[in-house]
Amino acid sequence: MPEATIIDGRAVAARIAGDVAAEVTRLKAETLATPGLAVVLVGDNPASRLYVGGKSRKAEELGFHSVQHNLPADTSEADLLALVEVLNRDPRIHGILVQMPLPPQIDKDKVIEAILPEKDVDGFHPVNVGKLAAGLPGALVPCTPAGSLILIREVLGGDLSGKSAVVIGRSNIVGKPMAQLLLQASCTVTVAHSRTHDLAAVTREAEIVVAAAGRAEMVRGDWLRPGATVIDVGQNTIPAPEKGEGKTRLVGDVAYREARAVAGAITPVPGGVGPMTIAMLMANTLVAACRITGQPPPDFGQS
Ligand code: NAD
Repeated sequence: MPEATIIDGRAVAARIAGDVAAEVTRLKAETLATPGLAVVLVGDNPASRLYVGGKSRKAEELGFHSVQHNLPADTSEADLLALVEVLNRDPRIHGILVQMPLPPQIDKDKVIEAILPEKDVDGFHPVNVGKLAAGLPGALVPCTPAGSLILIREVLGGDLSGKSAVVIGRSNIVGKPMAQLLLQASCTVTVAHSRTHDLAAVTREAEIVVAAAGRAEMVRGDWLRPGATVIDVGQNTIPAPEKGEGKTRLVGDVAYREARAVAGAITPVPGGVGPMTIAMLMANTLVAACRITGQPPPDFGQS
């Protein structure tokens, strides 16, 4: 059997970013409104700082009005909620993203619920979660699963109806919304998690596997049905003594080399789902700006 096709997330993300930039230009010309994204970072977690910087830079690059608020680690919940309120009311801001995790003195659910659902470009607000689950129009869909769905469609085309899909992981950020999107696309969906019995046997049934467990190289080649489409969401840092003492490398939740020999198509880590997440954040911000300014939002194929 030939080796799997490698799904180039960087290339697909670049295409979406190009489409977003073109739409931003059109929106500016037609409505004189510049779509605006506000990114809020509390504390100085190095990974969060990197993510937030990347998101703000990409927004600027695509022509958005982009603002970043860096708050100290000891910011009170009340102060963060007050900033969210200011951003909710700011007509130049169409998307608000508060980077997680938040310091322990802040209740993340209160913050998520304080963001106006129509500016909730992470798609975590209960209104957006409910709209997605109920199949109602107008949901903002979480970026990582939205991007993963686009990658699946790159391989299998627009019509996924009847396909068997296994999602490994049931988090609110990835697993659950991924399952909802696949269900809405008329797949037969199984959601597996840390208590699932015989995960290998469950996974072996699937034509589509989305791995989002956060367990380095857990999904082995012999867990896969030959020809399966494999989307590896995991981002795990593991020791890489071959690169030198104390060095690390990034791997997914799928044992890539083994899986490539069995799968029909697979996303690499890095270069698969990761770049799609940021592209979908830009797409969501544009969609939010269109809806808020009364323009028809473009469809990037994310729902
Ligand atoms: P999480 O820890 O919130 O959830 C992990 C889920 O996996 C849980 O539902 C748990 O039940 C399940 N799980 C854990 N161990 C398991 C096991 N042994 N067998 C089966 N299921 C198991 O994590 P998350 O936020 O959903 O993220 C999952 C992974 O995706 C992480 O590696 C994270 O870094 C990565 N991630 C990547 C992106 C990206 O842009 N590429 C975005 C978000 C998350």
